[in-house]
Amino acid sequence: MSDSDTRDRSEALRTPIVAVLGHVDHGKTSLLDKIRGSAVSEGEAGAITQHIGATAVPLDTISGIAGSLVDPDDFDLPGLLFIDTPGHHSFSTLRSRGGALADIAVLVVDVNDGFQPQTEEAIDILKRTGTPFIVAANKIDTTPGWNPQDGEPIQVTYDSQSDRARSRLDENLYEIIGQLSDSGFSADLYWRVQDFQANVGVVPVSAVTGEGVPDLLTVLMGLSQRYMKDQMAIDVEGPGAGTVLEVKEEKGFGTTLDVVMYDGTIREGDEIVVGGMHEPIVTEVRALLQPKPLAEIRTEKRFDRVDSVAAAAGVKIAAPDLEDAMAGAPVRVIRDRDREAVIADVESELAEIQVDTEEEG
Ligand code: GDP
Repeated sequence: MSDSDTRDRSEALRTPIVAVLGHVDHGKTSLLDKIRGSAVSEGEAGAITQHIGATAVPLDTISGIAGSLVDPDDFDLPGLLFIDTPGHHSFSTLRSRGGALADIAVLVVDVNDGFQPQTEEAIDILKRTGTPFIVAANKIDTTPGWNPQDGEPIQVTYDSQSDRARSRLDENLYEIIGQLSDSGFSADLYWRVQDFQANVGVVPVSAVTGEGVPDLLTVLMGLSQRYMKDQMAIDVEGPGAGTVLEVKEEKGFGTTLDVVMYDGTIREGDEIVVGGMHEPIVTEVRALLQPKPLAEIRTEKRFDRVDSVAAAAGVKIAAPDLEDAMAGAPVRVIRDRDREAVIADVESELAEIQVDTEEEG
């Protein structure tokens, strides 16, 4: 039998979902902006796709940004999907079946500031959810005497610094490595890490100059490929599963859900179960919406209607009766499954979220 005969269940590798978290002002938003900006300037339109609540960066674009660091032939995962809403409060409530919605996380730490209260909180949540993560030691360009090398890999930029600047940065980096160790994580500069399951890799970056961003993307891609490939294998055409990022009023559509889908496909007309404040909501998808490409943003309509969306992706769902839906709640397509079983599934997941929220409060 040929390969294609054995793959009749539309198996595919989905994009890993990446969350960015860390203390306020340490640069989460700037880092996401930089990644988006670098991807756009990589050239061709379509280098990145803006989703609802997320940004998809395809492998080709990552390899364009990372240059010699990434050979696209070494990878078969399609790229990375960054959740746009940074911050660990959203992260902690964003769950998928039994775990965090994000497959991997970037913990942003200001190299000058080191660990701060929200860094500690983020670490606790990463521990509790068992989410693999790397540390972006951000703002390296603020090191006194720094000679910035825009968009370059960290080795290139290191080689361009004075001994003094380099050792100033190293001191700060080792401080962070020590703080990670105090929190129970063995850590090192990423190029010294052999086993990323046993050690946390620290990537020096600047969200302003883009230095180290090639390395950050390379490490995320490498970790996903190496340790998460099995998890990424999904039945793309199976009934979709996702998590609500936000519940929003939208002119012409009423209450809508911004959702990140992590499994299967959702189609217009699908019957879905959504976690609600009082009980699961059973409703039917009236429209699936995606943002219009940037170029067309000035037109009247902000969204394009699509027939279906496959994981991993962000999408806006318009449907009746969504008023009681909650951020963090599960969304499940019923399709050919038993409706009561899907409802029970959503109920048990909601119970888990509520336990978690109480622990945090
Ligand atoms: P967030 O609260 O973690 O999302 O942090 P922001 O991205 O809003 O950044 C907070 C401030 O730090 C802003 O004024 C940014 O311009 C600045 N900032 C972020 N990253 C860098 C960096 O790498 N270098 C420098 N010099 N400033 C940065």
